[in-house]
Amino acid sequence: MSVPSEKNLNREAGIIIEKIHAYMDQGKKVFATCSFQSQSLPLLHMISRVNRGIPVYYTNTGFLFSETIRFIDQVRVQLGLNVIALRPDFPKMKQLDRSGRFLYASDPDHCCYLNKVKPLEPVLIEKDIWINGIRADQSDVRAAMAEEEPAQHNCKRFHPMLGWTSKMVYYYRQYNGLPEHPLESQGYKSIGCEPCTAKSFGDHNERNARWFGMNKTECGLNTTLIAKGG
Ligand code: SF4
Repeated sequence: MSVPSEKNLNREAGIIIEKIHAYMDQGKKVFATCSFQSQSLPLLHMISRVNRGIPVYYTNTGFLFSETIRFIDQVRVQLGLNVIALRPDFPKMKQLDRSGRFLYASDPDHCCYLNKVKPLEPVLIEKDIWINGIRADQSDVRAAMAEEEPAQHNCKRFHPMLGWTSKMVYYYRQYNGLPEHPLESQGYKSIGCEPCTAKSFGDHNERNARWFGMNKTECGLNTTLIAKGG
């Protein structure tokens, strides 16, 4: 595949910007969630071009890399974003299994539920449109999603980056001077909570080092919070 031109990427970005504007013109309460990886930057850049007041939530699970926390602040300042941290209200000492291990080691789905899904639920109740930057080329679960999906609590998920590729993301970042997560140069291609993230291997899927060795491949935000039957 040839290198995507700046002109073409700007046109694609313009389409997304128009769609977000359209939701806001309809009076919809719009918000975004973000994992603040390098690949998150194009969508954050577009959001900053629509309206810097749009809330961008992330969940500080208590298990994030310190590098991620610093990167969030760097991006917040550089793009002037309205970044809001959510925090789980379930104490870590109550997140142990019968063997005394943290749940991420034995029941990561429940760990994600307590630390990522639950903190976001009040936001879904309050808002209308959830901008989420998943891409089809990241996993089979994501490839099966539509650009718009019903979410729980009558919220609607909007996946504007679904058709973007990792190459488009890379060149959009280059053309717009958007920074790289500091762990990427150390071999991490998909970065989440520290206990569930390893350096990437192989070349078939950038997310192949997430929850490595566990029977889990997808974040609870992209499974649990899809509206059932929607
Ligand atoms: S990614 Fe891992 S540590 Fe983070 S909430 Fe999910 S299971 Fe827990």
